[in-house]
Amino acid sequence: MMNIQMVDVVTQYKKIKPEIDAAVLRVLESGHYILGKEVTDFEMNVAKYFGVKHAIGCASGTDALQIALMALNIGPGDEVITTPFTFVATTETIALLGAKPVYVDIDPATYNIDPALIDAAITKKTKAILPVHLYGHSVDMDPLHEVAQKHNIPIIEDTAQAIGAKYKGKKVGGLGAIGCVSFYPSKNLGAFGDGGLLVTNDDTLAEKIRVIGNHGSRIRYTHEILGVNSRLDAIQAAILNVKLRYLDEWHEARRTAAQRYNKLLGSMDAVCPVEAPYAYHIYHQYTVRVRQREKITKRLAEQKIPHAIYYPIPLHFQEAFRSAAYKPGSFPLTERAATEVLSLPMHTELTEEEQHYIVEAFAKAIA
Ligand SMILES: *Cc1c(COP(=O)(O)O)cnc(C)c1O
Repeated sequence: MMNIQMVDVVTQYKKIKPEIDAAVLRVLESGHYILGKEVTDFEMNVAKYFGVKHAIGCASGTDALQIALMALNIGPGDEVITTPFTFVATTETIALLGAKPVYVDIDPATYNIDPALIDAAITKKTKAILPVHLYGHSVDMDPLHEVAQKHNIPIIEDTAQAIGAKYKGKKVGGLGAIGCVSFYPSKNLGAFGDGGLLVTNDDTLAEKIRVIGNHGSRIRYTHEILGVNSRLDAIQAAILNVKLRYLDEWHEARRTAAQRYNKLLGSMDAVCPVEAPYAYHIYHQYTVRVRQREKITKRLAEQKIPHAIYYPIPLHFQEAFRSAAYKPGSFPLTERAATEVLSLPMHTELTEEEQHYIVEAFAKAIA
């Protein structure tokens, strides 16, 4: 029996171990553990990677979202339009600031927010639109920009799963007012712990983001605005600086694996992920749609094939956001996706042999 991993961060590390180890040791010996040169170097390199003017590190992708919302002065009474089909962090940060997440249903082909439904959800209280590039596939940004511009509302891109993904040749994250990135270890660019980043082309916002992430302080012990303690660790920055050099290569490895899955799964009763003509998909997840998911996951588990469901409960049904009180059927395409999606192992180290093995097991599970 093959030992398949859902994500294999250890094998990836071993391939670049000397470089990573040297970077970590350099930080340990430097004595500079918070901010400093490692962080500045990484911020410069990652800004170049995104093709944006500013990149500002922070402690996690969740913090990046919260800081972005704070930088846009979002608080009690405000509304933020977003998708109910995402990781909880997207909505959590809106609610934590006292604002209200207002959901819009998804495009069932890409699982991303459907820009055509946004206009109807906008009210006088709408202060931002927060699309998520889910699974590493870009949101359809042109129609989203159109509606945002019509109402003069800023866009915050949740780019946690999509660093390096493109929309019409341009990297997502730098397309709205602020892009939020996560370096959670299993993300396409993963740290060895938590880490996050904000990107923007706006000088004023960049300055404000930096101040908010450092206790609202520009000058030591002087606090002009309310901030948080959220900085990217120097050790993580040093590691990410090494890993960033491999990122495009790793995206290609995932894309090759995705195409192989598409071919192998082609004739089965499962809907493979699409790559829209406007998108460069980085396959953070390889997610199919199936009927009778429960039967399939049980049979995959019996065959020791790792798999996951992102996400089984839409956010409008979560107990934590009960006050929103959305009834079943509010977002039918999201609710249906939540019962049908199934993610298969996807990482940079996945071999052709392993994929054949996974697909054979999948064929038995679906039969
Ligand atoms: C991972 C993730 C986040 C949060 O990132 P952390 O670094 O884990 O805080 C936010 N949004 C989405 C869509 C994510 O996948």
